[in-house]
Amino acid sequence: MVTAVIGAGASGIMAAICAARKGDSVVVYEHRESAANKILITGNGKCNFTNLRMEPSCFHSSSDSSGRIGRILERFDTRACISFFEELGIKHRERRGCIYPYTDTAESVKSALMLELKRLGVRIIYDCDEIQLSGDRKVNKMSYDRVIIACGSCVSKRTGSDGSGYGIVKKLGIGLTDIYPALTPLILKEDLSSLRGVRCEAFLRLINEEGVVEECSAGELQPFETGFSGICAMDISGQACRILGRGERAYIETDFLPVYSDEEFTEEIIRRRERFPERKLSELMTGLFPKKLINYLVHPIDTRRENHITEFVLNVKHHIYELSPDMTRDFSRAQTAAGGIPMDSIDDSCMLTGHKGIYAVGELLDADGICGGYNLHFAWATGSMAGGSLL
Ligand SMILES: Cc1cc2nc3c(=O)[nH]c(=O)nc-3n(C[C@H](O)[C@H](O)[C@H](O)COP(=O)(O)OP(=O)(O)OC[C@H]3O[C@@H](n4cnc5c(N)ncnc54)[C@H](O)[C@@H]3O)c2cc1C
Repeated sequence: MVTAVIGAGASGIMAAICAARKGDSVVVYEHRESAANKILITGNGKCNFTNLRMEPSCFHSSSDSSGRIGRILERFDTRACISFFEELGIKHRERRGCIYPYTDTAESVKSALMLELKRLGVRIIYDCDEIQLSGDRKVNKMSYDRVIIACGSCVSKRTGSDGSGYGIVKKLGIGLTDIYPALTPLILKEDLSSLRGVRCEAFLRLINEEGVVEECSAGELQPFETGFSGICAMDISGQACRILGRGERAYIETDFLPVYSDEEFTEEIIRRRERFPERKLSELMTGLFPKKLINYLVHPIDTRRENHITEFVLNVKHHIYELSPDMTRDFSRAQTAAGGIPMDSIDDSCMLTGHKGIYAVGELLDADGICGGYNLHFAWATGSMAGGSLL
């Protein structure tokens, strides 16, 4: 079999390795001058390449009615991923379930993959001209038995993932779901300049315009002028964009003190007030929140009002912000894309329905994982499904 792979990123390299290992002659077309550029910037250069907890619930998709993501993750689980890289010489280390190369450098991962491509005799054509793919598996007029499209999304253009893959797929007549930024900061209508630089633990609820909680997340929150960054904000950003993209309103309910229930926090305030009757409300909060956050949370509260403790508890634990639709258009800070080729348009080997021998893998597909190594895992997993089994 002669296989062409379009795109030399995580999913394309994995597909090429797996196809070559099962005996295919493999050619990779890469429109940049080098491969694996995005891998190098993952995990702040440390490359969080998979996670000990690998479940379908760690992924979002609007087009996976048959549970294909779950089946792919079953066939290529964390253990398969770790042992694939161990075989390439990548010893690993774990932090809170996240798996990194032992060297803590993405460069090691790239080097190991490139050495394996070389060992297997995979040919990479760099700086290739605009790719023309036809339904009869011709890539720039060359015929192939199989073609694997692995062009990534439109996130991180500087690495080569410039959205041109969507054009290749559309020319085959395949419809795409709407595409939005994901793992990106939440942009709010409210100005948060006074909270710039604050880092705090929080629990977030993403609420639609009917008041239904669509998703929750917990972890470190980093407010900035126009919104929230930090893992707990980014994890729900793709879903937020999907709601906003439908032209609906979306809200974030913020709990700035998730260690206490409303009742426990009320009791804590009363206890502190009894102990320090001379203190102002802001002073009573010392030790519970960073100073800037105390000022922000106390500011709207009129402590002369009888029910001010209830109002304060509500402000701390049920603060509602409206999200700005602007966030659906800004891919510049995203780490992945929500949307793309519907999961229902491929089979379990990632072959496109109605397009025998043509496969699509990685970020091109309508599946986006939360922070923690899930998107790279999905790229390896789909690449291995399309390339062939891990031999
Ligand atoms: C800053 C940042 C940090 C991240 N950190 C992590 C992390 O720690 N853990 C994690 O799991 N995920 C992380 N991700 C996400 C992860 O990197 C991607 O999900 C993953 O690389 C997607 O792999 P891919 O092969 O689908 O696409 P890509 O890696 O984007 O590869 C696509 C390749 O195709 C090439 N290409 C595109 N169009 C064409 C074309 N028309 N013709 C020829 N070639 C083409 C591109 O040049 C590129 O080489 C991060 C992303 C970013 C931006």
